[in-house]
Amino acid sequence: MARAICISGIECCGVETMVLTKLFRVDALYPDPSILDVVCRDVLSGKIIVFPTETVYGLGASIYRPEAIRRIFIAKNRPIDNPLIIHISRREHLYETAVDIPDAVWRLIELVWPGPLTLVLKGGSAVPPEATAGLPTVAIRMPAHPVAEKLIDCTGPLAAPSANISGRPSPTTSHHILTDMFGRTDIIIDAGDTIFGIESTIVDFSIKPPRLLRPGAMPIERITEILGIEVTVTDVSRGYVEAEEALAPGMKYRHYAPSTPLIVVETRKPEDVLKVALSLRRERKRIAVITCRENVEIYQGIVDKIITVGSRENLFEVAKNLFTTLRELDRLGVDIAVAESFPEKGIGLAIMNRLRKASTKIIL
Ligand code: AMP
Ligand code: MG
Repeated sequence: MARAICISGIECCGVETMVLTKLFRVDALYPDPSILDVVCRDVLSGKIIVFPTETVYGLGASIYRPEAIRRIFIAKNRPIDNPLIIHISRREHLYETAVDIPDAVWRLIELVWPGPLTLVLKGGSAVPPEATAGLPTVAIRMPAHPVAEKLIDCTGPLAAPSANISGRPSPTTSHHILTDMFGRTDIIIDAGDTIFGIESTIVDFSIKPPRLLRPGAMPIERITEILGIEVTVTDVSRGYVEAEEALAPGMKYRHYAPSTPLIVVETRKPEDVLKVALSLRRERKRIAVITCRENVEIYQGIVDKIITVGSRENLFEVAKNLFTTLRELDRLGVDIAVAESFPEKGIGLAIMNRLRKASTKIIL
């Protein structure tokens, strides 16, 4: 059944856009080849598709179908100056999507692809301006997920941002994709939870030295170790300040933001988080605390809701639960949330970037 939807801010010839969504459920490791065959043909004919990757779900269109790429922006309500990531499944795809690839990048790819690292390179001729927002550079990655891999093997390169409505946390579960994209996309391939639950790391290799544009699932330490040179990490990439210019174009937009105000307390001591919670309690606010499993007891009897994102000893667990936590915050019936901070090592850098970008206030 088609569902009528209204895409705010988008004028669709004065009528609401209606999209009939075909939903397929597949096994994440052994997807049914006949399903992939059908959706591959649909994508090549210009349909848009939600598909799983190891990081988050993507909303993809063939790079050979610029009109389908334009529909991605409408479906997500995404500003058209925010470029997409090109997803490939073989190194040969690079020959048409990028040019002037440095030797060090080829060596890096050899070791980390398929995997959650996106490279910004000089753009190749097959990538249309709809995907790059007209920039001379292009962001490319090779996802490590059997469904994405098999799909792209058949369709060729897909231009795909995360499959959330703009501003919301990226989708990492079946529930998230159905909530955000049913009725907006032609096809959904549901393969259950994604693996990392946080987006790819983006490094700009079109400049020297390379610069971290967005921390993500691939630890930046691993990249610098392989390259043998430092990658520039700025306050923008750590999520403290929004990029004023087109450093990473998407960065100037607010992300992951729940409607509930969120305070991030940067000191590592739970007592400091408790102090903030107590002062909010004096203002008669209903409070949620986002904490690690180790600190739960500290807040018991003091705040209204305690949300555990995982163990401080396993930041991969915290990363995986983070977006579900941010999405659920608004359903808890609290006035304000206070989050602990996590060590900025490995995937912790991405966790802190997302928390800061979701916050209304940071207490240093
Ligand atoms: P998403 O997949 O939704 O996380 O969005 C892709 C992100 O990749 C964008 O928000 C940009 O920050 C980044 N990106 C894509 N293309 C480029 C590019 N050519 N230069 C810098 N960043 C890019
Ligand atoms: Mg996104």
